[in-house]
Amino acid sequence: MIAAKVKIQPGRLLINGEWVDGAKKFDSINPATGEVLTQVVDASAEDVDHAVSAGRRALEDRGGPWRKMSASDRGKMLWRLADLVEENIEELAEIETLDNGKPISESRNIDIPMVVDVLRYFAGLATKIQGETVNTFETAFTYTLREPVGVVGLIIPWNFPLLLASYKVGPALACGNTVVLKPAEQTPLTTLRFGELAIEAGVPAGVLNILTGGPETGKAMVSHPGIDKIAFTGSTAVGKEIMRGAADGLKRVTLELGGKSPNIVFADSEIDDAVKGAINGIFYGKGEVCNAGSRLFVESKVQDQFMEKLVARAKKLQPGDPLDPKTRMGSIVSQEQMQVVLGYIEAGKNEGAKLIAGGNRVSFDGGQGFFVEPTIFGGVNNNMKIAREEIFGPVLATLSFDDVDQVIDLANRNPYGLAAAVWTKDVKKAHNVSRQLKAGTVWINTYGLLNAALPFGGYKSSGFGRELGMHAIEHYTELKMVWLNLA
Ligand code: NAD
Repeated sequence: MIAAKVKIQPGRLLINGEWVDGAKKFDSINPATGEVLTQVVDASAEDVDHAVSAGRRALEDRGGPWRKMSASDRGKMLWRLADLVEENIEELAEIETLDNGKPISESRNIDIPMVVDVLRYFAGLATKIQGETVNTFETAFTYTLREPVGVVGLIIPWNFPLLLASYKVGPALACGNTVVLKPAEQTPLTTLRFGELAIEAGVPAGVLNILTGGPETGKAMVSHPGIDKIAFTGSTAVGKEIMRGAADGLKRVTLELGGKSPNIVFADSEIDDAVKGAINGIFYGKGEVCNAGSRLFVESKVQDQFMEKLVARAKKLQPGDPLDPKTRMGSIVSQEQMQVVLGYIEAGKNEGAKLIAGGNRVSFDGGQGFFVEPTIFGGVNNNMKIAREEIFGPVLATLSFDDVDQVIDLANRNPYGLAAAVWTKDVKKAHNVSRQLKAGTVWINTYGLLNAALPFGGYKSSGFGRELGMHAIEHYTELKMVWLNLA
């Protein structure tokens, strides 16, 4: 294993611009070795209360730095933060890889550079948040204002720790909210480093508070009356719990949840491109990707030819040291998640699907890391557990189809609706199928591409609300109507 360059400090909480300790701690583990990286604080309900109070003070203090900061200055502050993230890409990428197990090539070239893009996008948007004047009566002057929602609670999963935090912190701060941010318990470390960079960028005290902790910390945020909105990314089961918990206080909620995205290959596609897209769609990020193309539908006419190429490529993709720049497949994020993935592989075998690649835990260098081979099942039908449920690991279920209507029906017959892809050279077919798929994103002849300027989010059980792009602003502002009587 390549030795890490970064020195990881024990984590503290960021509350009101100060780093504070806590009574309870938990370990952050390197999943590639099973070793403890450091300890971080398990934030209590009292810590949540302090962070929310700090957020509220910063928000409501009319003479304070946050309320006095112009939209343009908020934009400059976010841009400075983006610059600092960019200057520290190497360090942040290494921390992300150590904490999550993803290959350094992904952290360094995709995750952290995209954090920079997202922060810059929202830095630019800070000055474009506007209301409108509306012509109603001769005797009235009527207009709208967009105001911050208030103190917003941001709850993040472990698969793209800093990137998914930036999806929420960017618009929240651009719109003038204050934030209580909770990374996932498995991967808190880049968010803590981000907190230091935020202070350096001039984010005023109390505007960005960071609490590490697990579900109990998250629950305390959801039930806290001082939090006006929860923006959550995570599993559908927890999303439902959050919605129920937020109901009493009528807290605003946006939910980015799970997926079981169909990746549809027609016989008239560029087969080699579609094979690469299928591999990338499921094995990028070890398959721990909400929009992973985990259900692959291949038109039966090209099934044999396609599967042969697919399996050959998957077999070349062996897990390796996440810190090695050549590695394309890292370790599963935790022992617990590895057991979940192996459990699904067993379920696939028991239900009669045909295991055609991978299927095992692997170890190298005699280490205790949580590595699983890229795994492909053939002969799957849409009712099997491995075709219905999100696995969140490197396991692909392949199914076949004979015509367009059949594949649209099969693709949509699933509770999730996050993303989908279509591979074909027929432009009309590509657009017609895209319109009929119930998903927040459809890719044509590519897979997994996202951009800070394009909205991302789900249909059906994949949640609601959109992140990224201009529409994110709607979820971080309240819309007020003002009516002035001119009579
Ligand atoms: P998770 O739902 O278990 O946890 C997510 C976060 O919620 C963590 O910070 C966790 O501590 C917190 N949490 C857990 N229980 C809570 C509760 N009862 N109340 C409040 N907070 C609670 O999800 P995970 O295992 O970390 O992430 C994997 C899931 O995230 C997958 O389902 C994946 O599809 C989804 N995801 C969705 C998107 C998207 O944009 N749609 C992106 C990434 C991941």
